[in-house]
Amino acid sequence: MPEKKVRHIMGLSGGKDSTALAVLLHKEIPDMEYFFCDTQKELSETYEYLERIKARFGLKINYLSSERGFDFWLDMYGGYLPSPRTRWCTRKLKIEPLEKFIGDDEAVSYVGIRADEDRSGYVSTKPNIKPVFPFKERGLVKADIYRLLEESGIGLPDYYRWRSRSGCFFCFFQRKYEWVKLSEIHPDLFAEAVKYEKEHSDSRIYTWADTESLTDLIKRKDRVIADYEEALKREKKNAPNKPLSEVFADIMDGEDLTMPCLMCNW
Ligand code: SF4
Repeated sequence: MPEKKVRHIMGLSGGKDSTALAVLLHKEIPDMEYFFCDTQKELSETYEYLERIKARFGLKINYLSSERGFDFWLDMYGGYLPSPRTRWCTRKLKIEPLEKFIGDDEAVSYVGIRADEDRSGYVSTKPNIKPVFPFKERGLVKADIYRLLEESGIGLPDYYRWRSRSGCFFCFFQRKYEWVKLSEIHPDLFAEAVKYEKEHSDSRIYTWADTESLTDLIKRKDRVIADYEEALKREKKNAPNKPLSEVFADIMDGEDLTMPCLMCNW
């Protein structure tokens, strides 16, 4: 029997790092299989960006979803909203569909962790999946990612104007400013996120953000925006030539010590 071919796989999240990795590798590895773990709770801008990537680089993207959606799993988890400590969402909506897609095949998984970051991606414990880290191997850092995106003509996803990471619209890794912007740019999605907090609050209180409900957060939105604008002024003063999108991402990353894993945001 002929030996089975090793598969080459790469996840696209609709974020900058995974897109830059596709820019880097799509010619080098023509048989790469691209996938997007679709929670069906993503921003419309993410789907639009994936369409742009497909069109510009001629890629095919496999959209992987759980047979059961977020609401089913929320019920299964007793109405407990996921959080950085109980991330059932990532396991059920992203990791399990991906493991099903790979099955028992031998696969090399290309992971976009940069040389200047220290966080974990989805590194499977399954022995048939071998992770490799092209950015780290080539010493590529954040500035290189922006350069790759710009030179390729793909640019950044549209949500980068107000949010620095891809992922579900209600992702609990969002910063306060990003919640406020979600309420302005996608009021329907913000209302849905509020509804999740309320509907699952019976006698218990679950909130997406750590310290307060979205309803309380939005009451002080002027303060949140003012804090962001002050940080923006400071950053612009320190690095006057840096493009606004990079300054924005730096402020958002600087505000948050909890970095999500690459399975969701890269
Ligand atoms: S993006 Fe956030 S909410 Fe969505 S699956 Fe990932 S960690 Fe969970």
